[in-house]
Amino acid sequence: IDYSHPRTRFAPSPTGYMHVGNLRTALYAYLAAKAGGQNGTFILRVEDTDQERFVEGAMDVIYQTLRETGLNWDEGPDVGGPVGPYIQSERGEIYAKYARQLIEQGDAYYCFCDKERLDEMKTLQRASNIAPKYDRHCLRLSKEEIAEKLAAGVPHVIRQRIPDEGTVTFHDEIRGDITVECATLDDQVLVKADGMPTYNFANVVDDHLMGITTVVRGTEYLSSAPKYNLLYQAFGWEIPKYLHCPPVMKDATQKLSKRNGDASYQDLVAKGYLREAVLNYIALLGWSPRGGAEIMTLDEMKKVFAIEDISKSPAIFDPMKLNFVNAEY
Ligand code: GLU
Ligand code: ZN
Repeated sequence: IDYSHPRTRFAPSPTGYMHVGNLRTALYAYLAAKAGGQNGTFILRVEDTDQERFVEGAMDVIYQTLRETGLNWDEGPDVGGPVGPYIQSERGEIYAKYARQLIEQGDAYYCFCDKERLDEMKTLQRASNIAPKYDRHCLRLSKEEIAEKLAAGVPHVIRQRIPDEGTVTFHDEIRGDITVECATLDDQVLVKADGMPTYNFANVVDDHLMGITTVVRGTEYLSSAPKYNLLYQAFGWEIPKYLHCPPVMKDATQKLSKRNGDASYQDLVAKGYLREAVLNYIALLGWSPRGGAEIMTLDEMKKVFAIEDISKSPAIFDPMKLNFVNAEY
């Protein structure tokens, strides 16, 4: 990976309106590409493979928000680039091809278990105080049995085969190394019964194919991150840098949530806050700029932004502070 030409991405799922936490993640990803005169590439990738959670109109809000705040993505028909924004639901063939590769290598396998069997399995596991985990029933199927079921059109998913033993160490730029025992990881689903990849699988394949150098996203994905390393290893791909941003909270206990429409960027603008002020305020949710500046335009942020200055601790969305920043504009 050539870190002298950073490529970062914002990878929203169109599952609700954009709250300030999402916009902040987009901003940090943008700055990670553009800060310090790096002039890197910032791309937009729509993660819409979960059709059930799709919210009509959510994507338009994301496009509009990014344009209004100046977080323009670099590749796309509308910006003169070759391709993009990348739409995962149009890339099904690509993920299917990589899933087949993993099956051939023995790093993934078909699973034909139906919901009934999985529910029963989980109930039994819970009853004996075992954390629910796929029991690898289908890993024991013979080649012939698999071929038969596939030919008969039995619904199936594709699961990642996690190594039986050993540990995996995941590195995060702010949190350092996180080591987990492979035995604690589940054989997660990579391709769902509808043929669509899961979020985790499409995310890894795309971050690699799109040449992402630093992945910037929310902490909620940190726990699944070690499994990513195993996928990268299975493919023989180099692992990008990862930066998991601290959550933005409503108060000491509740996170802002996209689905509840908490502190949506559009609502704040509709209430009369200036776009620049909102962007400026959210930049400070988890970032202490060098030199201590508080009022900064996007261009000024580009001059001072550094990944090392992102905090580990959660940030609280404070309307008073937003009022203060807004008044300065
Ligand atoms: N698609 C995910 C979301 O919108 C984020 C993915 C990522 O940045 O890795 O919540
Ligand atoms: Zn199975």
